[in-house]
Amino acid sequence: VDRFDIAIIGAGTAGIAAAQTAAALGARPVLIERRRIGGECTWSGCVPSKALIEAARRRRHADQAPEFGIRVGEVSVDFPAVMARVREIVERIAGFEDAGHQEAMGIAVRRGDAVIEGPSRLTVDGAPLEAGKIIICTGSHPAAPPIEGLADTPHLDNENLFEITELPRRLLILGAGTIGVEMAQAFRRLGSEVDVVDAMATVLEREDPDISAIAGRILEEEGIRFTLGASVESVSSHQGRPRMTLSVQGERRTLDGDALLVAAGRRPRIAGLGLEQIGVATDQRGVTIDDRCRTSVPGIYAAGDVTGLHPYTHAACYRVIPWVTFMDPEVGHLGLTEPEARHAYRDTEVATLPFTAIDRAVIQGSVRGLIKVITRGKPIIGTRYGGGQIIGAHVIGPGAGDLLHEFAIAMQSRSFTGRLAQTVHAYPTMATGVQQAVAQLFPLGRAVAGDLRLSLDPYSAGSSSKDSELMQ
Ligand SMILES: Cc1cc2nc3c(=O)[nH]c(=O)nc-3n(C[C@H](O)[C@H](O)[C@H](O)COP(=O)(O)OP(=O)(O)OC[C@H]3O[C@@H](n4cnc5c(N)ncnc54)[C@H](O)[C@@H]3O)c2cc1C
Repeated sequence: VDRFDIAIIGAGTAGIAAAQTAAALGARPVLIERRRIGGECTWSGCVPSKALIEAARRRRHADQAPEFGIRVGEVSVDFPAVMARVREIVERIAGFEDAGHQEAMGIAVRRGDAVIEGPSRLTVDGAPLEAGKIIICTGSHPAAPPIEGLADTPHLDNENLFEITELPRRLLILGAGTIGVEMAQAFRRLGSEVDVVDAMATVLEREDPDISAIAGRILEEEGIRFTLGASVESVSSHQGRPRMTLSVQGERRTLDGDALLVAAGRRPRIAGLGLEQIGVATDQRGVTIDDRCRTSVPGIYAAGDVTGLHPYTHAACYRVIPWVTFMDPEVGHLGLTEPEARHAYRDTEVATLPFTAIDRAVIQGSVRGLIKVITRGKPIIGTRYGGGQIIGAHVIGPGAGDLLHEFAIAMQSRSFTGRLAQTVHAYPTMATGVQQAVAQLFPLGRAVAGDLRLSLDPYSAGSSSKDSELMQ
């Protein structure tokens, strides 16, 4: 029987990170994968979706070029070529993580289906293997909601979406969360008519309400139709095309399309792993873990999407986890939203800054957006108040995903907001927006940056900050 220090089931983001860390620390890990090394992020998640979004962004920029005085002639989309590039990018990135790369780092790779037989015993396609510790990194799969007729109606999800070669003329999308929104905008920009349906009352419902309201408006302006607060009664196939029957506030509607994309959540991939037999506790989110990734069985750990905690490729057990929705402009999320913060803390303060106030955004011609900073806990310095600490930051606007990380560093290091406000930011960068937003928490900052609470920008939410006297 082959013996290893650690057996890692699943060679996705979590499994590869675990195996590489184990090997770097001098352990002998084995990485077991039934399908493709790289997992969902590389093959059917982050990488192909962002490559498709990039193509769509180029199309949009070409369409907008005349606004900048640039003539580009007629713009058209060669969809098979777009998808060929998406697949080429996937292959290129997969090439950096294949079995040869893992083995070169001291990781044994086994192909096949892993089943856990006991705390240190597994089989891979029936062949036994022993390991001191086991880490479950089997990821998640798209959830198919229990809608009448859905199982019998051919539809797309992220596992087959990036294999299509023909642009759907009319695309129906079930789900207005991150994946639904990202794909809705990409396909709309590439030329599809897009309808998005969701039971929730807003798009991106996990975002701060001001941010999701702006996101919804931007997407509608691009021609995406949303039917929100809808309950899908059935899905059926008519001459090979999907039809959705909905009920919206008691009224029945039907939507017809050429293709249906289901982006309605994720389920942990735990079937057939043997978890029940050996007593590894799970709930509807996935494998239950503590803050050190330990499951209920000693020696067995779990990480990544299979835990259902933070379904992002970079997430493990951190306090400060930013996430980004790659619509254009991007949406960046960090920590608490304003309603969550106000519910949790009485001393919550909020500052906002519309992108119209950022010179770089004006220069680039992309001023739609908002920076929102949420703080609490002002220290008393002498007889005066200083700035509080960041407990949430939310940005919709160009480069939001990158801007967010200034707030993440401040939050991680528990810095006071005055530190950000005092840090000189090079002009004209988008990052000056971070400084300008935080400065809104201080009278001196507002005097220098302009009092943006007076902003009348139609997209912006008015600032509701109270004053901190010191930029501390
Ligand atoms: C369309 C889409 C876009 C996304 N975009 C982003 C993004 O922009 N940024 C971001 O951070 N996240 C994004 N995500 C989420 C990201 O893809 C996941 O968080 C990440 O892939 C999770 O990694 P993981 O290792 O937990 O699981 P996975 O990557 O799913 O890996 C699990 C692996 O385990 C294998 N496996 C399962 N069971 C067994 C078994 N019994 N035996 C052997 N092998 C097994 C599977 O074959 C798979 O390869 C996106 C997801 C989707 C669907």
